[in-house]
Amino acid sequence: MKALVYHGTKDLRYQDFADPHVTAGEVLLRIKCSGLCHTDFNEYIHGPLYVAATPHKRTGRSIPLVLGHEFSGEVIELGPGVTRLRVGDRVAVNAVDACRKCEFCRRGLFVHCPVAATIGFARDGGYAEYAVVPEDCCHVLRPEVSFRSAAMVEPFSVALHSVRRAGVEVGSRAAVVGGGTIGLCTLQALRACGVVDVYVIEKSSAKRKFAEDLGASAFIQAEISDPRQAISDLTGGMGADYTFECVGSGAALQTALSVTRPGGTICLSGVIPHAIQFNWNDVLRDEKAIITTNAYNDEFPIVIAMLNDGRLKAEPLISQIFPLNEAWSNLTRFEEAGKAHIKMMIEMNA
Ligand SMILES: [Zn+2]
Ligand SMILES: [Zn+2]
Repeated sequence: MKALVYHGTKDLRYQDFADPHVTAGEVLLRIKCSGLCHTDFNEYIHGPLYVAATPHKRTGRSIPLVLGHEFSGEVIELGPGVTRLRVGDRVAVNAVDACRKCEFCRRGLFVHCPVAATIGFARDGGYAEYAVVPEDCCHVLRPEVSFRSAAMVEPFSVALHSVRRAGVEVGSRAAVVGGGTIGLCTLQALRACGVVDVYVIEKSSAKRKFAEDLGASAFIQAEISDPRQAISDLTGGMGADYTFECVGSGAALQTALSVTRPGGTICLSGVIPHAIQFNWNDVLRDEKAIITTNAYNDEFPIVIAMLNDGRLKAEPLISQIFPLNEAWSNLTRFEEAGKAHIKMMIEMNA
């Protein structure tokens, strides 16, 4: 099959790759849609960070490895022991392949499973024509949910998990730093969870319309107005109750700290690829809580339900669609292309 394969730093190849074969408890998918993610761009530039450089303790897989962790597909073959899925099922894929046996898994804390093998990092992922995935990772879609929307269940699950991690209360006010995919998914998740105002802070004016159309109460263009002052003005001098850092940089973290009210909560969603320094006293003095979030546990069914009834909207975030053979050029110039786009997506036979 054809696949986009990661071999190491700045070494990503569109190439022929061995066809995958199912074993017990797994299914073979024909991939339909697969979202390009900034995390994969980070792997290309700075990696291997999360991609397995040495054989993973459960899957034994390491680079070269097919990236892609946001995808949907159609079941075309069942492995032995598969009982819940049928050939022809349309599915969204939860990328966290946890063991489902350890103490963490028994408590539903799948992301903390010590032998979890994330699809697209420790087993082959969705930038390919086919993928073999565990039955347990597949969520069957209703016919009216498009494969494109289904490939967005993963980033929405990241966003919803962060909102749950932060313990967001109904009626509160939140700020989101970063108007990319995760920022705009977080905006929608906050709205769906009863936050009254969401302020999006973003450098690029190109994201304004997306943010406003998806329910932002205010869009603060960071290079024109001072975010701290703007949010202070919008909240009667108080600041945001919750702030979500969805960029992954030291500067964005500083912004998040500065716009959060005393006693408020900052949730770090973005992957910061380098060590950074900041003044803990700024946090301590005002009793601000910093929490972190990574991936998701059991958010997939909730996101699918919220997509079904329209509380979350995936398709407006998909701003560019191309075939698999164009994925390489788009992923390697992600930063530049991302200025004009929210979610870039591979659609097979597009
Ligand atoms: Zn992603
Ligand atoms: Zn486990």
